Amino acid sequence: MKVFNAMEPLVAEALNEYWSDINMPCKCEQCKNDVFAIALNSITPRYVSKDNGIAYVKAQYFDKQMKTNIVVKIAEATKKVAEHPQCANFQR
Ligand SMILES: [Zn+2]
Repeated sequence: MKVFNAMEPLVAEALNEYWSDINMPCKCEQCKNDVFAIALNSITPRYVSKDNGIAYVKAQYFDKQMKTNIVVKIAEATKKVAEHPQCANFQR
């Protein structure tokens, strides 16, 4: 079976775009992955088949409302991780 969550590449794209501007106490790979996971969990998944998925994802890149929604979820996820970082840099 070949399906994937179409939101995943969209969130990844937005996160990569905003990561350098995001206000985080730590910007290691793990914190970034935590933000990615939390944001994805808070966004309703949209599963598509691999065959039709790419066209769907490309169309969504140009949907401003979708992008705004994703950025809001990333901001919320960032806040959670910033308050409770799980990575080694914060384990004392
Ligand atoms: Zn970190």
